[in-house]
Amino acid sequence: MSDCIFCKIARGEIPCAKVYEDDKVLAFDDIHPMAPVHVVIIPKNHISTLMDVAADKDDIINHLTAAAQKVAKIKGVDASGFRVAINCNAEGGQVVFHLHVHVLGGRKLQDELG
Ligand code: 5GP
Ligand code: ZN
Repeated sequence: MSDCIFCKIARGEIPCAKVYEDDKVLAFDDIHPMAPVHVVIIPKNHISTLMDVAADKDDIINHLTAAAQKVAKIKGVDASGFRVAINCNAEGGQVVFHLHVHVLGGRKLQDELG
């Protein structure tokens, strides 16, 4: 989508601190990190929310979780531990309506989910 901020990042129109990229996903440091490691992983194709993933037809969630493993290794938190989160819609805390996975780590995370 032309006016979507994460589509613009995927197209290289807005710069990002790239952590990992393959043909389907792009991972970059969050601009407002909530932890020493805070990476956002997006599909390169626009999908608005988790509810828009066709789980039976689409393997993007597999790609995103495989990318989360790679990001955790790249950032050195694979053994120490990390959190993977997808916010969905307003009460889920979603602000950017282009599906993304948060990878948080580098400190002991408290129960910050709600
Ligand atoms: P949400 O609340 O939608 O799950 O998370 C959106 C995340 O994207 C937030 O953590 C926010 O800091 C991050 N973000 C928003 N705009 C940008 C941007 O232009 N660049 C980067 N690197 N992160 C962004
Ligand atoms: Zn988008």
